[in-house]
Amino acid sequence: MLKTLGVGHIDQLISQTIPEDILSKEPLNITQPKGLSEYDFSQHIKELGKNNTVFKNFIGLGYHDTLMPAVIRRNIFENPGWYTAYTPYQSEISQGRLEALLNFQTMIAEFTGMEIANASLLDESTAVSEAMTMFFNSRNAKQKEANRRKFFVSEDVLPQTIAVLKTKAEPLEIEIVIGDDRQVDLEDGFFGAVMQYPEKFGAIKDLSTFVDVAKIYDVKVCVSADLLALAILKPPGDFGVDVVVGSSQRFGIPIGFGGPHAAFLATKEEYKRFIPGRIIGISKDANGDIALRMALQTREQHIKRDKATSNICTAQVLLAVMAGMYAVYHGFDGIQKIAKGIHLKTAKLNNVFEKMGIQQLNKIFFDTLLIKVNSEKVKSLAEIYSYNFNYIDDSTISISLNETTTHEDVTHIIQIFSKAEDKKYKEVDNDSVHINPHLLRKDDILTQDVFKKYHSETEMMRYIKSLEKKDLALNHSMIPLGSCTMKLNAASEMLPLGYSNWTDIHPFAPSNQWEGYRQLISDLENCLAEITGFSATSVQPNSGAQGEYTGLRVIQKYHLSRGENHRNICLIPESAHGTNPASATMSGMKVVVVKTTMKGEIDIQDLRQKANLHSKNLSSLMITYPSTYGVFEDNIKEVTKIIHDHKGQVYMDGANMNAQVGLTNPFIIGADVCHLNLHKTFAIPHGGGGPGVGPICVATHLAEFLPSHPLVKTGGAKGLEAISAAPFGSPLVCLISYGYIKMLGNEGLKASTETAILNANYIKQRLSEHYPILYSNANGRVAHEMIIDCRGFKKNGIEVIDIAKRLIDYGFHAPTVSFPVIGTLMIEPTESESKEELDRFCDALINIKSEIEYNPEIIKNAPHSLKILTSNDWGYSYSREAAAYPLPYLKTHKFWTPVSRIDDAYGDRNLMCTCPSVEDFQS
Ligand SMILES: *Cc1c(COP(=O)(O)O)cnc(C)c1O
Repeated sequence: MLKTLGVGHIDQLISQTIPEDILSKEPLNITQPKGLSEYDFSQHIKELGKNNTVFKNFIGLGYHDTLMPAVIRRNIFENPGWYTAYTPYQSEISQGRLEALLNFQTMIAEFTGMEIANASLLDESTAVSEAMTMFFNSRNAKQKEANRRKFFVSEDVLPQTIAVLKTKAEPLEIEIVIGDDRQVDLEDGFFGAVMQYPEKFGAIKDLSTFVDVAKIYDVKVCVSADLLALAILKPPGDFGVDVVVGSSQRFGIPIGFGGPHAAFLATKEEYKRFIPGRIIGISKDANGDIALRMALQTREQHIKRDKATSNICTAQVLLAVMAGMYAVYHGFDGIQKIAKGIHLKTAKLNNVFEKMGIQQLNKIFFDTLLIKVNSEKVKSLAEIYSYNFNYIDDSTISISLNETTTHEDVTHIIQIFSKAEDKKYKEVDNDSVHINPHLLRKDDILTQDVFKKYHSETEMMRYIKSLEKKDLALNHSMIPLGSCTMKLNAASEMLPLGYSNWTDIHPFAPSNQWEGYRQLISDLENCLAEITGFSATSVQPNSGAQGEYTGLRVIQKYHLSRGENHRNICLIPESAHGTNPASATMSGMKVVVVKTTMKGEIDIQDLRQKANLHSKNLSSLMITYPSTYGVFEDNIKEVTKIIHDHKGQVYMDGANMNAQVGLTNPFIIGADVCHLNLHKTFAIPHGGGGPGVGPICVATHLAEFLPSHPLVKTGGAKGLEAISAAPFGSPLVCLISYGYIKMLGNEGLKASTETAILNANYIKQRLSEHYPILYSNANGRVAHEMIIDCRGFKKNGIEVIDIAKRLIDYGFHAPTVSFPVIGTLMIEPTESESKEELDRFCDALINIKSEIEYNPEIIKNAPHSLKILTSNDWGYSYSREAAAYPLPYLKTHKFWTPVSRIDDAYGDRNLMCTCPSVEDFQS
């Protein structure tokens, strides 16, 4: 490959690619030079895991022990066919995960009693904050005129949610009012409110009193609900609330020290244009058959940019898929049985306590009791059984039961309290439901076929397989998505995700139980700081966009600390990813767009001018490096200097870090803060659109502003209250990035970057005779990705999307379409692909080029589903063979698309976002 590029050594290629003045002088020195072997790593991570102590968790507060059905574990959680898939933008080859997500949406809508649900959000706390901003932005003219800016938060809402709300409200000048919902005067300038159901310590209240008053004053109500409790409780929708959010963790997802878990947001039809995140909808394909795709708001930030009201991009798709499958497997009856079982055990515990004369404060409850006892005594006894309770203060404890709680556990808990209080107990058999009849759920939900048919393992296994087969993931062929870095997610990195001393740790457990996590996270944070050249890291943000928001807020805190609160201008190049301007606006900044030159570089004249113009109010520049055009711009140091000269800060979007690791870094180029996408550069699988981890790394002067957490001290002294629900975001998947770094070692990390750059330049070399390559540096080199221009084919009647669809017939997922330049494809091969695979991909694109010239119809009709290929009336000018097997390699690499081209516009005109029932098909 080097020879093809006319260079003798990889160093020569790198020096032609990366500007001399930013190459690292020192080699990486963060771990062993060679890295651990797979065997050594597996031993190491097991040893480290022993520093975590697994207790049974009765802490609750949004996290519960669960049972992941083995059929879901083996066929989804541990299956690259599911976890290596990309976000389902190419809907024709994503029908499997789209169906799984439609199941999730249906399940959420029905459990919450709402009309429509998304799939999905990052965690319960950020979901509440999304609801808050959704209400704020959908205020009517009168409310805006009256400047209604107050958001009421019941004091019974989870503490981590309150902290996230405070963080998010501040820059939008929303006033958070925390209090007793029975006393608040909603007439006084409120636009919205949130209640917890059941409350944080388990009490259940009839929501109707509050909701009815809120309606009178046109205050919108969000309820943060426990999904499992809704199996037996009257759903919030029946009280007339506007939004229901929550976490789906209890549906078979491990706690994992706080994440990743999928949150949900369900609402009424009237809000459908305001819903953050992705929504799967039903449409049809070219044959008129039902087909699924992501609905309109899918690319909200890319279309609306600084007008966008949410920056959610990567969400928690794999976890949403799994939670939806939990509902498919158990059905409503099964889940109700689980919920009832938990409730009856809780009721029994309550009855015994009552008989013993122990005070229990929750009159109505689902799974949680609030008990007045001597906490110290209980604590020392509970430790003997390895039980974690929630010790609220010296005399108050809450205990939350869950799916894993056995009758034996209940007996143990009784014994603990009996001993602590020195009171005798009597077993009671007569346990009955402890919820007032009018608060019980009475309807029958999940009546659709899909929730009825797959309750045996055989059927379930085959259903999951039938969906998997419809999807093209990395286990079939390369997914050359520019900016998204779809690299190998090595099995050796993934295996520890199933180990119980990593999965079963509660985020609010005593710190001596998670010493292993503490070591792993602190080691990973240090490695990432070294890799970026910075001094401190926070892994709390749950996605890249969340990292952007966090980094920008850190910058604002810094300006504030210097008495420069007025600095609120954020310069962003026009080529930026849509989340950049969206995050800046959400941080309370004004976005000023900087032009790009014809060569694809930031327009330095324009930058200088705008920095001058806004000098006094300049907050920051947000820049992606290498640029979103896939080039290491020569003048980057000059760019960052201009910003610093005006006392601004430089935020580097680290999505392209795969071109930097070990060769250069954000600190060298002059940035002050960056986020990393661990689900791109550091090998966390994309999961069909999440999980994600978007840590931020900062220079010394910003470290004190890193996000903290109300229950576990993290971050800096003057830090943001919290960015995520969990103190360390999604720690379970941090194991993957940790393994990636440990097994590659210093040398392997650098070699990966070099290989990624080599692979990209090799593709460029092969394609440049056939397609215009939009940008490269003065030496003709691209970084780790490149843009090929397809606008010239309009004269042949071919749009870029046609090429993307034809690639499916060739067994490939399309590169990134129309980002950052409309009408182009952005190709990023990563270091994980062999020369054979790169050649197959180039051969495909080269062959497509000749089809564009000689046979454009074959491209227009793509992709060719089996239904089209086997139809009787084949009316096309080309053969079936040419359609299905245009190149010889397809004899062994064919992927059959389950549907033909999908009509996006049809689906947006007829938005339908839950599983169809029989009537829908008839109408
Ligand atoms: C992927 C990406 C983001 C957003 O990251 P998410 O994890 O999806 O939120 C931001 N900027 C760029 C350039 C990206 O490629």
